[in-house]
Amino acid sequence: MQTKLIPLYQDSSEGQRAEEILRSCVHCDFCNATCPTYQVLGDELDGPRGRIYQIKQLLEGGEVSDHTREHLGRCLSCRACETTCPSGVQYHELLDIGKQALDQKLPRKKHERLLRSIVHAWLIRPKLFSISMRVGRWFRSAAPFLLPAAIKSKVVEREKVELPNISTLDRSASSGAKQKGSKKRSRGTLLVFDACVQDAITPQINQATKIVFESLGFSLEFIGESSGCCGALSQHTDQQALAKQKARRNIDVWMSRISTTGAQAIIATASGCGIFIKDYPELFDASDPYFAKAQQIAKLCKDPVELFSKDQESEGSEHGGDKLCSALIACISSGTTQSGEQDSVAHDVLAYHPPCTLQHGQKLQGSLESMFGRLSLPLLVPDDAHLCCGSAGTYSLLQPQLSSQLQENKLQHLNKPKPTVVLSANIGCQAHLASKSDVPVVHWLQYLAQMLTS
Ligand code: SF4
Ligand code: SF4
Repeated sequence: MQTKLIPLYQDSSEGQRAEEILRSCVHCDFCNATCPTYQVLGDELDGPRGRIYQIKQLLEGGEVSDHTREHLGRCLSCRACETTCPSGVQYHELLDIGKQALDQKLPRKKHERLLRSIVHAWLIRPKLFSISMRVGRWFRSAAPFLLPAAIKSKVVEREKVELPNISTLDRSASSGAKQKGSKKRSRGTLLVFDACVQDAITPQINQATKIVFESLGFSLEFIGESSGCCGALSQHTDQQALAKQKARRNIDVWMSRISTTGAQAIIATASGCGIFIKDYPELFDASDPYFAKAQQIAKLCKDPVELFSKDQESEGSEHGGDKLCSALIACISSGTTQSGEQDSVAHDVLAYHPPCTLQHGQKLQGSLESMFGRLSLPLLVPDDAHLCCGSAGTYSLLQPQLSSQLQENKLQHLNKPKPTVVLSANIGCQAHLASKSDVPVVHWLQYLAQMLTS
């Protein structure tokens, strides 16, 4: 694509990066076919190619209006278009640059800024979020009509996102997960990123992480409150400077924890956090001293499924993905024969919703399906697995109608095989789907932890 950016952008590193991305687009239109907003709205301006044109126009000094903001704002940042694009257009980076440029050229209205600030302040404070979650849950059961639909989708009941048989753990104590025999291998230390609102929705995911990885012989270190939100929520509410500030703080805290614990990886159980951490280098110019540190952190950050990946084989015999799967099967067999729970889990019909942040963001498409296949736990993946469920960080609060439409579509597809449990890998998707699902929607680690501890 030919470009002619105005000097303001030609001279900035963001502008130069935007130009590079714009030039990689060959207008082929393949991306519209997998764009959820284009599928629902059928408007070229609500598809990736149309949004790319609007950003180009903006950076070339053309007219912009509230309509531009509306079309860019409807984008879920799901990156399905990036998976489809044959030219490797890094759309998400262009969108972030375009949204910042738009805010500078056409500042948001006061009420929009206020709404974003409230949403942001609410979501980045785990304690505040936890209190409001408890209050919201009370309203949801006692007076549901008082809760606006968008809020209701965020205050999902615990039983919809949890499994009944995972024991409640003190994270500082051993999980006591059943081991095959009494031998405990030492596979090293994992640092777990847990400074997220995830715990307020369900603490079971961090408990499950501990159960699963300790049963395999890893030591777990939870980062805790010394860190803070990864910054994704700030980025989603267009507070890029704050997102960068949070990234800097986290990089410092995590590097220091890595040097004291010798941890070999940082585990992000929410794939939405994982992709943002893996993208930390994009927040900094190459000349910024944090750029190299961000690259180090990004390399160390793993979604838990990556440890079970076949690609891990080359990294060493003890930690190979297949070996971990075999060890897990051994632990599960040992546990289930002791507890007699095998029947209840063996009869589950498991549907799986792969989060966009896992499949399109982290490019781990098919990873959980492969892992569960090796555990002889087949996952039923819906036809529309590549499409977003409508959660998308703060999207369900800021774009409630579209979000709700995508949620309904997704549940319809997931429910076709009549699952008894839906699995996912990101707390946002999990809570969003669970709020309208008839069966529990849980993280896959919760499901495995139940098999190990029931
Ligand atoms: S698929 Fe890629 S190259 Fe084709 S129009 Fe979309 S973004 Fe541009
Ligand atoms: S990120 Fe998702 S919603 Fe946005 S343009 Fe790409 S496919 Fe469409």
